[in-house]
Amino acid sequence: MAKKEIDPETANEIKKELAELRAQLESQKKPKKKAAKPKAEPKKKAAKPKAEPKKKPKKPTKAEIAKAKKEEKLAKEKAEAEAKAKEEAAKRTLDDELEEQFSDEQIRNFQIEKMDMDKLTNKVCEIIADFEEKGMLQSDLWKKLKLNSRDGSRLALRLERRGLITREKILQKGRWTYKLIIEQAPIKLESLVDSPCLTCPVEQKCDPENAYPEPSPLHCQLIEDWVTVEFSKKKK
Ligand code: SF4
Repeated sequence: MAKKEIDPETANEIKKELAELRAQLESQKKPKKKAAKPKAEPKKKAAKPKAEPKKKPKKPTKAEIAKAKKEEKLAKEKAEAEAKAKEEAAKRTLDDELEEQFSDEQIRNFQIEKMDMDKLTNKVCEIIADFEEKGMLQSDLWKKLKLNSRDGSRLALRLERRGLITREKILQKGRWTYKLIIEQAPIKLESLVDSPCLTCPVEQKCDPENAYPEPSPLHCQLIEDWVTVEFSKKKK
């Protein structure tokens, strides 16, 4: 068979295409190189701060111990005094203020304007006596007598100074007030009609605690005579 001749131009094209095919095959064979992973930098260990050498606690001296104890005692005393003062302040009432404001004499001789103090005293004692040793709240008494708290408190102080009642401080509905308790049962008003005390010029100064010759029912001839007469009347 006669050999067919290929013109050089066609041969070159065939060569070129073969070369390209080869190149394609080569590239498919070669495994794809993995993209190089950037090497992670080795983790640096955080520098550990050097522990300071432990200092041994200084042993306190005897003087320091004594000073600390003294300071502790003073602080405790101060706290106690403050707590007591706070408690006292909370317990403070109008009566306490009035007691400080007025002298003993002013309290004993306290008068409410346009009021017969002897009649009022007896009335108050009679009311309080009904409650016997249980006593009654002074605020209830002032309401009953239509007295304001200032006059009422001074009246209670007057009666206490005269030994007719006692006052007992109590906590009532969260407020400090006084309970009034009878000390001396009152003589009924009717029996006082002829009492020499009602017209006595020294009644204001008269007090069972007075020493002779100061006026006192304990050494009063007038009252002695009157009691004798009253007693003999009752016997009849
Ligand atoms: S007890 Fe005698 S001194 Fe005292 S008020 Fe009566 S009458 Fe006056």
